[in-house]
Amino acid sequence: MLVSCLVAFLCFYTVHMIGITVGYHRLLAHRSYTCPKFVEYILVMAGYLGFESSPMWWATLHRAHHRYTDTELDPHAPKYGMYEAYIGWFLHKEYADYLKPEKLSRDMINDPLYKFLDAGGNWHRAHLLNSFINFSLRGVMALIWGWEIAAASLAAALVVQQMPLLLNVVCHIPKAGYKNFNTADTSVNVGWVAFLTLGEGWHNNHHAFPGSARHGLTAAEIDPSWLIIRAMKAIGLVGWMNEVTINTQYKGKQDQAVAVKKPVELEIVSDLHAVGNIKDAVGADRALINQPNQPLSVTVLADHTSTRTRAEGHRRARQKVKR
Ligand SMILES: [Zn+2]
Ligand SMILES: [Zn+2]
Repeated sequence: MLVSCLVAFLCFYTVHMIGITVGYHRLLAHRSYTCPKFVEYILVMAGYLGFESSPMWWATLHRAHHRYTDTELDPHAPKYGMYEAYIGWFLHKEYADYLKPEKLSRDMINDPLYKFLDAGGNWHRAHLLNSFINFSLRGVMALIWGWEIAAASLAAALVVQQMPLLLNVVCHIPKAGYKNFNTADTSVNVGWVAFLTLGEGWHNNHHAFPGSARHGLTAAEIDPSWLIIRAMKAIGLVGWMNEVTINTQYKGKQDQAVAVKKPVELEIVSDLHAVGNIKDAVGADRALINQPNQPLSVTVLADHTSTRTRAEGHRRARQKVKR
């Protein structure tokens, strides 16, 4: 019985985590690949049933995080307090003016499902609705498969729910990890977070190239979520996919969404995400297209073309910075 519960826990954990990483994050928040609407809904529902609350709320807040990283406008910057960065932001009641979905998520505001789950922009109501649906589902599961499976599912979903919260904090504590790219923020790659979150912990890579469906860039940076997107592409469930590699030159914030293999039809709609000429592009944050470039002094810290160790990479990186 214990074994079957554990297996069920791991299966549910994986499904809900995929919903967050492949669905909420890389698809909704960043539009780093395209897929049919039914595939989008299935992925998003897998995340929703992992206590992730309103998809539109999630994507909007996450886009704000990329846009205002480490500033006071960042919804969860650890430098302004650990409690606020971990859970405090989640408990606010409504969207502040600067992060309204009408401004940051115009590609989602007319979607009837996302609109419904957003509960009129009232965060508490949206979280409550999410909790109600989540607990009800486990009640139904208990009736069908027994309480053990339902409990394993509930436990997995609740643990999964903590993961993005944990990531938001840990991957923005410079001492907790390492940087491949000299981004002008605190983002770092953290291996154990990547393990728990199916590849999301390669967060410095992600801040360097938010529009990329691929986050793990070196041989050691295993990124199961990207492998899943790639597999979906291989069987035709994903159309276009934005993928950077470790050899992609990081040029600073204005180029964050540009991939190496940029398809001709690709339209860069913002510094946060890249969208092909698909329906979802309609209404996306076009105001950001023409935002003034902010040239940064950019140094690619480690080229990772060889298989040298991370410590060596860091040493070389420091030398480069000193030069
Ligand atoms: Zn971040
Ligand atoms: Zn992101």
